[in-house]
Amino acid sequence: MAFLDCDICKIHHDYLAQENWEIGRNELWILRHHPDPSPLLGWLILDAVRHIGGPVEFNQKEASDWGLSVKRASCLVRELTGCDRIYSIAFGEGAKHLHLHLIPRFEGDFATKAWALADHYRNVCNGTSNSIDPKEVAKIVGNARNLWK
Ligand SMILES: [Zn+2]
Repeated sequence: MAFLDCDICKIHHDYLAQENWEIGRNELWILRHHPDPSPLLGWLILDAVRHIGGPVEFNQKEASDWGLSVKRASCLVRELTGCDRIYSIAFGEGAKHLHLHLIPRFEGDFATKAWALADHYRNVCNGTSNSIDPKEVAKIVGNARNLWK
């Protein structure tokens, strides 16, 4: 069930968002690239299709599938970016709908190490740091769609 006041539910039903950033979906999950302004190339987000806040509300099917889906999406981030590690973060504050951020981490990039990532994120949002060029995002989304099939 979609909620009209939920930004994640809106994204799931927004044709332009699907066209620009969605990588794939099945009955349980939707995988997409971080929308513009994108803080990092290959920053993916794994959403629950259902409007649920997190694992506490998983049904049996979601609970059984979550680990495999997070692993598969994380491996895709690594394959797309060549990153060293992947941060997995789900706050659920901006929208109380489970959306797991899968963030490529490069050991040599100190601007995105641990909580410095939050500063980078805010700087991109307020325009003091550059976001990723939408053309670069479109390219990686295309690659991701081919790999995700
Ligand atoms: Zn929602």
